[in-house]
Amino acid sequence: MQRPDQIKPESKPSKADTEFLNAVTDGKLMLSECTRCGGLFYRPTICPDCRATTFKWVKAQGEGKVFSFVLTYPGGKQGTGLPKAVIAVIELIEGPRFMAGLTGIAPRDVYVGLPVIVDFDAPEVSSDVAPFSFRPA
Ligand SMILES: [Zn+2]
Repeated sequence: MQRPDQIKPESKPSKADTEFLNAVTDGKLMLSECTRCGGLFYRPTICPDCRATTFKWVKAQGEGKVFSFVLTYPGGKQGTGLPKAVIAVIELIEGPRFMAGLTGIAPRDVYVGLPVIVDFDAPEVSSDVAPFSFRPA
């Protein structure tokens, strides 16, 4: 039996979540463009620049570079084996940054500034990051 503090609230995907995930299924990476200031963001709920709450979808090119990254290890401890996966902060050429898995490259070869491209066919690296991965461009 779960204790009350172990029960996670059920989350229902928002309309925007559903539209975003449908686009991913169709092989499109979408950004949100603020209808007030024109800022581009990755899945905001409120514009961080002008506080507006209305956006329109804009298709991203799917290209960017590694802004930062971490290596994950089996069991969560470094020194217990080879890195299991690479989780990177990707900076798209349009500007927005977000976390995603990085595949198709040995973890020791990853570096900040590595050119990458979105890969919708790669296996999901972690359910805690984007529902797609990037690979070297
Ligand atoms: Zn705005």
